[in-house]
This record gives sequence, structure tokens and C-alpha cells, in this order.
Amino acid sequence: MNGALLERVLSAPRLPTLPMVAMRVIELTDKKDVSLKELAVTIENDQALASKVLKTVNSSFYGLTKKCTTINQAMVSLGMNAVKTLALGFSLVKMIKDSQSAGFDYEDYWQRGVYTGTAARIIASHVRGVDPDEVFLGGILQDVGMIALHQALETEYVPVLTQSGRDHRALARFESKVFEMTHADVGALMAQRWRLPDLLVSLIKFHERPTSSPLDYTNAVRVVALANVSADLLVGKEPGPNLRKFQERCSQWHAMGPDESDALLRRIGARAKELATLLKVDIGPTPTTDEILSIANDRMVQISLQAERDAEALAQKNAALLREAVTDSLTGAANRRRFNEDSAEAFAESVRDGSSMAVVFFDADKFKSINDTHGHQAGDAVLVELAMRMGKHFGDEGGLVCRYGGEEFAVVLRGKGRAEAAMIAERFRAAQAGSPIDVRETGAKAEALTVTVSVGVAALEPQTAHAFSNVEQLVRAADQAVYAAKGSGRNCVRVFNPKPKQSEAAAA
Ligand code: GH3
Ligand code: MG
Ligand code: MG
Repeated sequence: MNGALLERVLSAPRLPTLPMVAMRVIELTDKKDVSLKELAVTIENDQALASKVLKTVNSSFYGLTKKCTTINQAMVSLGMNAVKTLALGFSLVKMIKDSQSAGFDYEDYWQRGVYTGTAARIIASHVRGVDPDEVFLGGILQDVGMIALHQALETEYVPVLTQSGRDHRALARFESKVFEMTHADVGALMAQRWRLPDLLVSLIKFHERPTSSPLDYTNAVRVVALANVSADLLVGKEPGPNLRKFQERCSQWHAMGPDESDALLRRIGARAKELATLLKVDIGPTPTTDEILSIANDRMVQISLQAERDAEALAQKNAALLREAVTDSLTGAANRRRFNEDSAEAFAESVRDGSSMAVVFFDADKFKSINDTHGHQAGDAVLVELAMRMGKHFGDEGGLVCRYGGEEFAVVLRGKGRAEAAMIAERFRAAQAGSPIDVRETGAKAEALTVTVSVGVAALEPQTAHAFSNVEQLVRAADQAVYAAKGSGRNCVRVFNPKPKQSEAAAA
């Protein structure tokens, strides 16, 4: 926190000051043995305050069946704490009204305070161990730091307010960035100086970040946080997301179904307007709760539809990326990375099951001369066609053809030994040698080119399993067989024959 700036804020001349009666009420309630009578007299000394308190006590806000005509009676009916809170609430509201200065959006301030205070009070009645009166004051006072920042730093604060719109999360972020403190910090310090109860100080301090609250106050802080969500919702700020949030938290924290939480919102909406009248504060025009709920429900449906569409699009994009990552861009065959995975997988399966598998390697013959004679484009077309033909031939055998690199291809044949793999490879070689590839559209010097391949086969078989301790050795063996095919004049299939085991060799 920026100490010098904080000092400037807290000692600003126009800062709201606590009315005498509020100071006296706090002082009295700090005393352990305060009597009802003493407190009643203090409140009644301020006639205007006493009549506001009584009017509120007798309103439907409290729903008392018997009307109270004195503060003393009110304390008997509602408890000392409720009346004390009301008295404090009214005098704090008066304090804020008295310190009013131009250029600050009081309508928004009161809208938020009144809705949050009302909501906190109603929500607290569903939560064990949270005093409805304390959270009520917490809701009303949570943003008092904004007023102080505005009074003290007016020209510096207004741009921060403007930039964040009416979004309090954004406001706290901007405040931290510009002033190294937030309205929550400032408000909590003011409350501390006014010697308000610790709980109230914490409610103010943590209203924007409830998860950081000290454990003792977690429940009350959560109530105010939930009250803030309902306040935003009921004044029409992002109704869809806020309704969802409200319902989720009501269900998660208080085991309430959507019907119950909707009923809660209706009560909050009605009571908040009533409270604004009692406090004589302007909260501006607000939609009815039914209007808001209907808009919010529509938005929620739209949001979940959009989320579904987004998830679908993302899944498609991920699948496409995944495909791309294992596909050769020229030929559309699988790439070497995919071959490495496929061959390693097959090798592990064969070792585990004691089954056979073969690796077949291909290298196009004299491919360089195709490029040299007919151009690179013709070479490309040949590679594309070769990949297609291989894919068809070996795909029928359950193999995945991969472009290993340049003019080299490879395929894994699961369940096939040397002899069977060699036969399948030979059929391909022969067919390829007899089917020239059409290169008319590539600017080649010929219409079609006869392209042959040299093929190498190596297999992991139960009887020769000793020869290969890993898949790399098997792949190298297939490559050696290709080399042998080249040495034998190309356009042929060669099989790698592993040396027999020492014991078998001796026996033979
Ligand atoms: P050999 O029969 O001994 O295999 O002779 P070769 O010419 O096929 O072998 P070499 O390894 O000397 O040449 C391979 C050629 O393949 C060289 C390279 O330019 C060409 N090549 C590799 N990738 C591509 C490609 O994507 N497109 C085209 N057009 N040519 C490629
Ligand atoms: Mg080569
Ligand atoms: Mg070659």
C-alpha cells in the first residue's frame, strides 16, 4: 500500500465524519454492561434519527405484528443489536449524504449499497451464525472507501471510476494499479478509525475478494459476496451470468434449488425498494424482479447454447490440430512421428502377446532423376500418387502408411510375419512397376512415369524375437533390407533374416 497517499486520503478535510450519535452508540455497545435504557436514551436524543428507526422497525421490512412507539419497545421486540444497527445505519447514511460532493455517482452508490444490504440481511436469515444486522451494515458500508477516495483525490479518482464503468472488480484492479490501494482497503481503515466492530471492518475489507477473508468471518463475508451478486443481477448488470452465479452459490453454499433462490431474489427486490424509501436515498429506476428474472433466464439459455457451440468448435479445432501434427502435408499420409508411435505401439503389443508384426520400408528408385528430368512438381505428384496407392493396398491389410522422409515410406503390419509381409509387399511392388503414374498436369516431359520401389521387410516373430530388443532395431533391419534391395538392382523386395540363436545354430 502507498503510505503517503493513504495518509493524504485519510486526512482529507471533506472526508465523511462520524456523527456524534453514532460515536456514542459505538462507545456504548463497546461497554459490556450497557443497559437498554442507556442506549435508548442516546438514540432518542436525536429525534430525527429515533423517528427513522421507529418507522423502519414498524415497516414490513421487519414484519412485526405489534407496532413499537418507543426505542425501548423496539429493543425489546427486535433485540438491542438490531436497533443499534439500525441507528448506526441511519447515522452512517446521513454521514455519507452530508459529505456529498459533485461528480460522484451517488445513485449507483446507493443502488449497490441498498440492494446488497437488503440482500445480505435476507440471505443471512438462511445461514446459521451470521447476524443479519451486521451484514446489513456491511452491505451498506462496503463501498464507503469510494467516497473517501473521491473526496480526497477527486481529479485523480474520476478517470479511474470512469474507466471501470460500474464494474467493481475492474474498479478494484484499476485502483490497485493507480493508487496501490483499493476502496475496500480505504473503507476498512476508515471503519477501524471509527471503531466499528471488527466484523464490519472485515466485511468492508474483503467484499471484493471474499476468499481472502479471515476464517472467523468467512460465513459473513460470503453472505455479503452473494448479496453483491444478487445486487448486480437485480439492477440489471450482466443478468445472465449473475443469475447463474447466484443459483450456483445458493445451491453450493445453502443447498437451495432454483425455485427457492428465485423466491429469495423476489423478496430482495421488493425489500430493497422499500429500504431506499425508508433511508430516503435515490437508487434510480430499477426493473422489477420478474422482468429481470425473465431477461436473465433468456440470457442464461443463450449463454449455455453459445458455450456448447464454442466447445464444439474448440473440439473440432483440437482434432484438426492433432491430425495436422501427425500428417504429412504434401501426401496426406501419416508422418514420421505417427510412424514412430504406431511402430512402438505394435512392438509392445507383439512382445506382450507373443504375436508377429512386420515393418515394411519403401524407397522410390532413382527418384532424383525424376526431379531432374521432369521437374520437382512431377516428383511431388509421383509422391502423392504413391502414397495414395500404398494407402489403399496396405490399408486393406490394416496398415497405416507413413511418409518416413523424402521419397521413403514405411508401414507396420500387425499380426504378420516375414513371409506374409513379403508377399503383400511383393504384390504392391509388382502392381506399382506395372502402373505408370499420370503426370500430365505437372509440366513433365512425359504423360506418365513408371516409378518402381525398392522394398525392405523385417518382422518380429516369436521364433526370432531374440534378434530385436527394441523397435528401433527392427526399423533399422527393415532399412538394411531396402539397402539390400537397392544392391540387388532395385525394384525388388528383400527380407531381413535375423541370425538364428546361438544354441539353434549349434544344433543345426
Ligand atoms: P535411389 O534409387 O538410390 O533411392 O536413388 P534416389 O534418386 O531415389 O535417391 P536419393 O536419395 O539420391 O534422392 C532422393 C531424392 O528425392 C532427392 C530429393 O530431392 C528428392 N525428394 C525428397 N523429398 C522430395 C519432395 O518432397 N518432392 C520432390 N519432388 N522430391 C523430393
Ligand atoms: Mg532415399
Ligand atoms: Mg530413392
